[in-house]
Amino acid sequence: MAEMIRALPALKDNYIWAVVNDAGQVIVVDPGVAEPVIAFLKNQALDLDAILITHKHADHTHGVFELLEKFPRVSVYGPGQKLIPGVTHEVVDGQRIVLAGFAEIHVLAIPGHTFEHVAYELAQHLFCGDTLFSAGCGRVFDGSYEQLFKSLQKIASLSPDTKICCGHEYTLENLKFAQMLEPSNEAVRMHVQKCEQLRVQGLPTLPSTLALEKKLNPFLRLDALELRENLQRHLTTDLTEDLEIFTALRQWKNAFT
Ligand SMILES: [Zn+2]
Repeated sequence: MAEMIRALPALKDNYIWAVVNDAGQVIVVDPGVAEPVIAFLKNQALDLDAILITHKHADHTHGVFELLEKFPRVSVYGPGQKLIPGVTHEVVDGQRIVLAGFAEIHVLAIPGHTFEHVAYELAQHLFCGDTLFSAGCGRVFDGSYEQLFKSLQKIASLSPDTKICCGHEYTLENLKFAQMLEPSNEAVRMHVQKCEQLRVQGLPTLPSTLALEKKLNPFLRLDALELRENLQRHLTTDLTEDLEIFTALRQWKNAFT
């Protein structure tokens, strides 16, 4: 059993992830619109088997109904049937989803960006929506900074080989913030070059890996000396607790352009 993973660009900067198995069956993650999924299935003569939803935001869910009209037997997994219209199977932390022909899917609760946010792990790929981005992380909407901090730590404890399949192409934008915080970080500098080349060719900068994120993502590098010094310079009070440092960093990023 070997799945092929593809990022389908959608809307302004979203990715809908498609997992294709040997039998030509497909799982899609976060279809904010239906059209790119329908085009992909048609071009490759594939069949839609299931939809996974990470959280309730419209740019991750709005394509569900149109896909259900075309593929009425498809199962839709997501956190909270009341929160997310179209969900047929509500998921909880720690749940295992078994779909015939696919590797087992593991559900992880990763609240913070929103309070109900989950990730799905399949064959060492982590579909983590708007929680961890390459070189960054999501904003806090109706979750809390503490939740987001703990969720990132939970992700950081997974295997370093884990491929990070997040919901948006924000990498170059995030790397500007990372570079300002750690101007001597060689991994950041090299990744900027690599991602610029990919984007010129219209290719995604994703998936990333957890090992790479630990080298360049400021939100997974709260202990980095240069980052700490630059953050301290930006603030007026002395911070020592990791959660305070994380919160200050995320709030600085909110204002950073
Ligand atoms: Zn979102």
